[in-house]
Amino acid sequence: MHDFDVIILGAGPAGLAAGIYAARGGLSALIIENKAPGGQASLTAKVENYPGVQEASGFDLAFAMLNQAKSFGVKVKTGTVSNLVLKGKDKRVVLANGKEFTCGSIIIATGAASRPLGVEGELQLVGKGVSYCATCDGMFFKDKTVAVVGGGNTAVEDALYLEKLASKVCLIHRRNELRADKILADRIKSSSVEILWDSVVVGLVADDKLTEIKVKNVKNDSLSAVSVDGLFVAVGQIPNTSFLENADEKPRLTDAGYIVADEEMRTSIDGVFAAGDVREKSLRQIITACADGAIAANSAIKHLQNKQ
Ligand code: NAP
Repeated sequence: MHDFDVIILGAGPAGLAAGIYAARGGLSALIIENKAPGGQASLTAKVENYPGVQEASGFDLAFAMLNQAKSFGVKVKTGTVSNLVLKGKDKRVVLANGKEFTCGSIIIATGAASRPLGVEGELQLVGKGVSYCATCDGMFFKDKTVAVVGGGNTAVEDALYLEKLASKVCLIHRRNELRADKILADRIKSSSVEILWDSVVVGLVADDKLTEIKVKNVKNDSLSAVSVDGLFVAVGQIPNTSFLENADEKPRLTDAGYIVADEEMRTSIDGVFAAGDVREKSLRQIITACADGAIAANSAIKHLQNKQ
């Protein structure tokens, strides 16, 4: 007899959707989250591509998912996973506070985190001008000058969000074409955001706080200094899989550290599933995370039925 039928690691959209589908499918489910529920979605200022929801804050959408999961009986606990037994029929999740839970199936939905730029002094300046979350920290830069680095959806959304707060926003992208969706790319091109194409940040200048960034044009190697109060880094993600180091067996990972799972969200370990941004996939969106979570829960249900 296990403590839970399924334990879900991560309370972002993938984990919450997995919880909803698992509970409605008759499983007892525990979600373990090491930060606040909602994952990266809850840091998104405006979601307008989740069907049926014209516009919502990411926080509100994630909070609604959390309440929905709880309403079906899903248990949600805060904790950091320190050890995992993934092999075999009896799986075990050990938390850093010493608590342990057994289960018949595990869904890994731990998502991904912001990738640092890798420029000297960057991490020491976090909270002193460098940020990875425009919706969290944008207010600190009201009527100030900021730069955003990156050319993906996050960078463009962040730049557009900051445009409403800061006196000047500049977007720095290493190529001459944005990776962001066309609708966002069109929006930024008609905004007041200045775009520095073919450019990378190579240095940070600070006294106590960030004052200036050194920008290199990769086409002609010219260097320029841009005075800024804030630098928002939005250069992609790294999957949250470091907790797997202490597992008795690791599911197969890609070179970049994403978990390899098939269409049924099955990993290389029987009874262990992966869902959402932590999984190797082509489109990382709230809707695809939710879809992964639903499929993973369905696969967990089938897995447990076959083991009976
Ligand atoms: P992303 O799509 O991987 O984009 C990362 C951007 O950073 C790219 O433009 C990349 O340049 C640039 N970059 C990477 N490393 C760099 C470096 N060392 N120096 C300078 N630039 C660097 O990441 P994301 O924007 O965080 O989005 C992650 C996922 O979430 C994506 O699947 C995205 O579609 C999704 N998302 C969706 C929405 C939405 O639909 N509203 C919002 C946010 C995020 P290159 O283009 O040259 O590679």
